[in-house]
Amino acid sequence: MATTEAQTGNPDISVSTGPLPKCDRKPPLPPPQNASAYHRFRKAIHLGCVVVFFALPFGNLMRADIPHQRFYFFGYELWISEFSIIFFSLMFLMFIVAAMAMLYGRVYCGYLCPQMIFSEASLALESKLTRMVNKHVRWSARPRKLLSQFLFYSIATLASVILAFVFISYFVEPRDLLHRLLAFDIKTAGGVAGATTTLLALLDFLFLRQRFCTTVCPYGYLQGMLGDGDTLIVQYRDEGRECIECKKCVRVCHMGIDIRTSPYQIECIHCGECIDACVDVLGRLGKQGLIHYVWGEQGEVLGTGDKSWYQKIGLRNGKRVVVLLIILFYAAGLFTALSMRRAVLVRIAPDRTTMYRLGKDGTVYNRFRLQVANRGHEQAIAQFSIEGLPGTSFVDFENAMVVNAGQTAEREVEIAGPPSAPLIPGVNHFLLVSRVGNEKEAVEETFITPSKDSR
Ligand code: SF4
Ligand code: SF4
Repeated sequence: MATTEAQTGNPDISVSTGPLPKCDRKPPLPPPQNASAYHRFRKAIHLGCVVVFFALPFGNLMRADIPHQRFYFFGYELWISEFSIIFFSLMFLMFIVAAMAMLYGRVYCGYLCPQMIFSEASLALESKLTRMVNKHVRWSARPRKLLSQFLFYSIATLASVILAFVFISYFVEPRDLLHRLLAFDIKTAGGVAGATTTLLALLDFLFLRQRFCTTVCPYGYLQGMLGDGDTLIVQYRDEGRECIECKKCVRVCHMGIDIRTSPYQIECIHCGECIDACVDVLGRLGKQGLIHYVWGEQGEVLGTGDKSWYQKIGLRNGKRVVVLLIILFYAAGLFTALSMRRAVLVRIAPDRTTMYRLGKDGTVYNRFRLQVANRGHEQAIAQFSIEGLPGTSFVDFENAMVVNAGQTAEREVEIAGPPSAPLIPGVNHFLLVSRVGNEKEAVEETFITPSKDSR
């Protein structure tokens, strides 16, 4: 509707009431449908990663409990004595990350890395708070800036405490950690680690952010060694010279690089934000974007081309098939090791500080050490028996040990061989048998008796 002087109430302002002049400029076209496809995809994955980051230690899915020397791995409680399985599990995870780098480049950095996720969240929070304060607070520029900084630092400090808590929960039991936090414990190792991690997380949020990726983190350099001519990369291709030099791809890049200069820049985390930016800009002109995910510098654009399904998921040569087979082999080995694992571990060892003890009545005694580690969640009873050594028996031992869940019990016992027992002088071989539930284990042991001359 046209406005008159009377309507404005101000004689200095005169507004034309005639028909509006024709404007030659067309309104900008809406952004193309897939203009922020990778951005939305990344943010959905980031959300999932945050959920996993919290769920792993709190759900006992994967964490080490250093004070109690335990390692939790997807329902299994591994003891430090099972270091080989722990090592095997960690190697398996590392192998998956390395294989991922070979096939999909820096996809871990751009999509899964907690450091990247929280750095981007910190940047987004800072700019959102600044915009909010500028919009709603009618103060002069400096106090407004101080207010937005105060809000940002306060939230970043709280977030650092929470994230440090979750991170330390990967190594210390969360309830134990909470008690230490509430008691402001900065004396014990757990307390000091928590305080140091909080401080580091805060410094990271405030200052380091993505600089961490190019200064501290070795993964980017490692990826350079693992990738080859078929690895997924982000590349600028402009054979038709259609780039309009808008530089939006440069402005959106959190790593501060220009992807047009090279697809092999160590800073590039293959996040795909520049792809969205170019699609957005050129899409308004009815053109295709010039930046793509591609299978190697000479390869086709992701999702295009007439390739078989396994090539489309990155298995593009024999080397990659071998890597996949090794991962499957590793997974099968890990699964077998975990399924063969016994909840109750019995160890039997002879005490040979003295070979034997000779009683006044001629009875020969041999000493053994029994250890029962109950790694399960219920009380266990281990029963012992002697096989292949007739006439012998345990001395003052009720043939069983009761061990509570999560506990280890040790006992020294003697086996007595009276003169009536048919033992040969010297070494007698026999089996020391342990039974826990339906599981039976026999360990070959020796019973030493005096030689003929000394008896
Ligand atoms: S966003 Fe696309 S058109 Fe704009 S400068 Fe980057 S590559 Fe060129
Ligand atoms: S160049 Fe593109 S893909 Fe690489 S980090 Fe920057 S925005 Fe992400």
